[in-house]
Amino acid sequence: MKHANSTSHLSVKERAKNAVQDEFLRNAVRFTTDRLRNRKQAVTESFGQWEVWRERGEQIRAHTIANLDAYLAQFIERLEAVGVHVHFAVDSSEATDAVLSIIQSKKARKVVKSKSMVSEEIHINQHLEANGITVVETDLGEYIIQLAKETPSHIIIPSIHKSREQIRDLFENAGATQLTTETRDLTAFARRTLRSEFLSAEIGITGCNFGIAETGSVVLFTNEGNADMVMNLPPTHIVLMGMERILPTLADLEVMAHLLPKSATGQNVITYMSMLTGPKRSADRDGATEMHVVILDNGRSRQLGDEQFQAVLHCIRCGACLNVCPVYRHMGGHAYGSVYPGPIGAVLSPLLEKGEQYSDLPYASSLCGACFEACPVRIPLHDMLVQHRQKLVASGHGNPSERMAFKGYENIFAKPGRYRLSIKMARKFLSPLAKEGKIRSSFGPLAGWTKSRDFPMLPKQSFREIWPSLKRE
Ligand code: SF4
Repeated sequence: MKHANSTSHLSVKERAKNAVQDEFLRNAVRFTTDRLRNRKQAVTESFGQWEVWRERGEQIRAHTIANLDAYLAQFIERLEAVGVHVHFAVDSSEATDAVLSIIQSKKARKVVKSKSMVSEEIHINQHLEANGITVVETDLGEYIIQLAKETPSHIIIPSIHKSREQIRDLFENAGATQLTTETRDLTAFARRTLRSEFLSAEIGITGCNFGIAETGSVVLFTNEGNADMVMNLPPTHIVLMGMERILPTLADLEVMAHLLPKSATGQNVITYMSMLTGPKRSADRDGATEMHVVILDNGRSRQLGDEQFQAVLHCIRCGACLNVCPVYRHMGGHAYGSVYPGPIGAVLSPLLEKGEQYSDLPYASSLCGACFEACPVRIPLHDMLVQHRQKLVASGHGNPSERMAFKGYENIFAKPGRYRLSIKMARKFLSPLAKEGKIRSSFGPLAGWTKSRDFPMLPKQSFREIWPSLKRE
């Protein structure tokens, strides 16, 4: 299976350069993220008091993560009390081994899956397929991506970069005949095909949006209802969850049930919120008879107690920070080269993966702070990106020309005389390049900037120069 990391030998800058040349990709990502952003704005405005809800969300997540050991222990105790088998995985290989051994113990050959970012993180499909297991993605977007042998490019909308025509072609390769590009036609084919997969699979794998510590319940949010089939039709259900996905109580879930769908897709409520507390009981009409929960650490516990980065564990994976990020909106998700794209990926990926593989991701940001404004649990992603950069510079990984530029900046801005002189010189130097108050093409370090946007020309008089006459007036 092709993976986003197939371009991991390239720097994020090189991957971005390739991505921005793909006009279809840019338009598709912009169109969908615009729609999600506008819908979110409309729904949060009509809901009212959004900032109060965000603060409540932040408090809940901060309290939970600060006491994660206690809530995790409570969650595991409750899970076991209702007959769930719990597996704790320190890293992705322990998690994939745990899943494989459950499947092999059942002599199962086919798995149906609902969408789960943790499953992408541990590359479970590749691992199972390498061991002769057939894995079928059942979320429509994931199904498309699986047929295309690609990885998701958005946390919530995995196939954001695909057109209807491309999807039709993929479905025709998978056996569809005479399909139109109408949504109804495309979804009908997926529904027909996936129904038989649900019924013939021996194992269902889902993710987990939240684990409720007080009840030992696994909560899933979906719009297609596929996760309900995955968890109920096959006899064995495996849940994959990051260790931070805990909420203390059902009352906390009520807050998240507002924050998550409104932020993710601009929906007032999610279509299906399913809560599962243990496997099928004798009085239940349906459900899996055996349930396993695999709880994954994979670098998360390293962030606990870290003043700078602990708050990254507050994330509820809504994807809202992607939809507002000017960098993501330009280059899409694959250019990040990590499972988690966008601002959350730029912060999280270098933390989860030791070493230098994602060390340039914190530079894939304009630091505009839009991600923080969009985040329903107020994670200061822009501050964390700066902290990542500070750490890199302190460890000697900074860019020497950038270091020189900032040294020059410091020298100029520290002395008013030098600042005034530099403004005058910049105006003189830049004026031959300006037309109608804008610099449309430039050279040197500015050339990249002016390739896709204009640079405003410095005004004829600076504020300092105007101020004395303003004061007299
Ligand atoms: S960082 Fe915030 S906005 Fe981004 S995915 Fe996580 S919760 Fe959503």
